[in-house]
Amino acid sequence: MNFPASPSSRPTRIVRQAAETDRLRVENLTTVIHSPRGEINAIQEVSFELQPGEILGLVGESGSGKSVTLRSLLGLMPGSAQSYGSVTWQGQELINAPSEILRRIRGGEIAMIFQEPMIALNPVLTVRRQIDESLRAHTRLNGKQRRARTIELLNQVGIPDAPRRLDNYPHEFSGGMRQRVMIAIALAGEPRLLLADEPTTALDVTIQQQILNLLLSLRDRLHMGIIFVTHDLGVVAQLCDRVAVMYAGRIVESGSVEGVFAQPLHPYTQGLMGSVPRIGVERTPLLSIEGTPPSLLDLPSGCGFNPRCAYATERCRRETPTFLSLADDRGVACHHFQHLVNTRSL
Ligand code: SF4
Repeated sequence: MNFPASPSSRPTRIVRQAAETDRLRVENLTTVIHSPRGEINAIQEVSFELQPGEILGLVGESGSGKSVTLRSLLGLMPGSAQSYGSVTWQGQELINAPSEILRRIRGGEIAMIFQEPMIALNPVLTVRRQIDESLRAHTRLNGKQRRARTIELLNQVGIPDAPRRLDNYPHEFSGGMRQRVMIAIALAGEPRLLLADEPTTALDVTIQQQILNLLLSLRDRLHMGIIFVTHDLGVVAQLCDRVAVMYAGRIVESGSVEGVFAQPLHPYTQGLMGSVPRIGVERTPLLSIEGTPPSLLDLPSGCGFNPRCAYATERCRRETPTFLSLADDRGVACHHFQHLVNTRSL
């Protein structure tokens, strides 16, 4: 997808004053998967905060840890995985929280939508049944009220002729409409936080645009925070307030969308930015990042990006860079970012 002309050309969004209680705080979240081939360091020392009404984009190549981060927040990793660190939501610690607390929060205060609704939806249950299950679990509405609420939810996500579609099965909807049904299920519990795992990747661009507009309007109307996982920087530019770039299971750069797009500090972010076409910019060859992401079973020593980085030094091969918090809510994990910015090598 092409970039829009500039992230700053997006309509201004109003992020209302944060209510302390609806803040998500993630500190040093680390998830290790124990596999027959050894320990997989799926994510390491991931830290960020999300305010109510804010949209954070998590970007990176496949296998960089984006989806694992989302699933680890809610304890949705398989039994072979172990998460450490801290995830607090409304002051409640979620890592190793009792299962009844996690059950109450999942699908209620925090909901998740997945990349492929055909896999996530149950093919043998009508749309009404699937939304109703969520309403039963997270509300005290009676049967009549739940039916009315189901229709309201389908209307809210833009499914035409909702009363008639209630008893349709997922295969009777188009791809875009199925994704809307997924969003309706996620909204049934009136979440304060929505985790969206590449929800538009499988859709064509016009449907993708409709879903992004829908998420923006829902965010504005319901004032919920959203974490949006994607590998598409065009989507980030259009949708998100802040962005965190992941590589080899770590956040290597973060900041406001405008700040990171205007001056990426990490060589990997620079490579990502150089690999997509820009509208309104004189034609220049697209760049690619040489090499492939490392295996999480066998990460390189030092900086995980060093085998692919044109600026790698001996120190990079020896020491893992610390994530440094900078001014203006920026942050980066690179030993040499200051030197590279000063010499305008980036
Ligand atoms: Fe490149 Fe070194 Fe920075 Fe890693 S720490 S991104 S290898 S310059």
